[in-house]
Amino acid sequence: MEIVQVLDKKFSLYISKEQIRERVKEVAAEIEKDLKDKNPLFLVILNGSFVFGADLLREMNFPCEITFIRMSSYEGTSTTGEVKQVIGLRESIEGRTVVVVEDIIDTGYTMKEMLRILNEKNPESIYVTSLFVKPENLKVDVKIDYRCFDIDNDFIVGYGLDYDHYGRNLPDIYKVVE
Ligand code: 5GP
Ligand code: MG
Repeated sequence: MEIVQVLDKKFSLYISKEQIRERVKEVAAEIEKDLKDKNPLFLVILNGSFVFGADLLREMNFPCEITFIRMSSYEGTSTTGEVKQVIGLRESIEGRTVVVVEDIIDTGYTMKEMLRILNEKNPESIYVTSLFVKPENLKVDVKIDYRCFDIDNDFIVGYGLDYDHYGRNLPDIYKVVE
């Protein structure tokens, strides 16, 4: 399918599932080479990263653990307004090698805050892998150790990523038709 409709918008095919599979294998091989002796704990950020996380983890041929977390945000009473929290992390990450698995890094604010919170829990080291990065939109300096695709600023859906909760089930990546 070249064009799909998700809610009120049309999207066109952008990156096929075959291209994703190939690139995920390459990135997984890099991670394996670096971390296979580290017993890493993969932290998959819900909801968007569930497909990427599932595919990435099945390429890991060494002992590792996986768990799922999410960032919640609520309007705080502080002057900065938005307060973020990491929820769902029951495992201790103290002394562990952690790999944060993210679907897309846009401005970078979410990842920056995630890393700040995780670093307070004294892991040995934290690595970041992101399926997509929008380099032109990055507003903060955030380390991204393993990235699959750098993309332009168009809004994308599919392979776990949503448009207003829909479209996560699409096997390929689509971008919005303006
Ligand atoms: P940021 O890096 O700006 O803090 O936020 C990253 C988050 O913005 C992602 O986790 C995702 O929820 C959302 N996001 C940014 N760009 C896109 C996009 O093109 N498509 C979708 N579905 N979500 C996006
Ligand atoms: Mg995300």
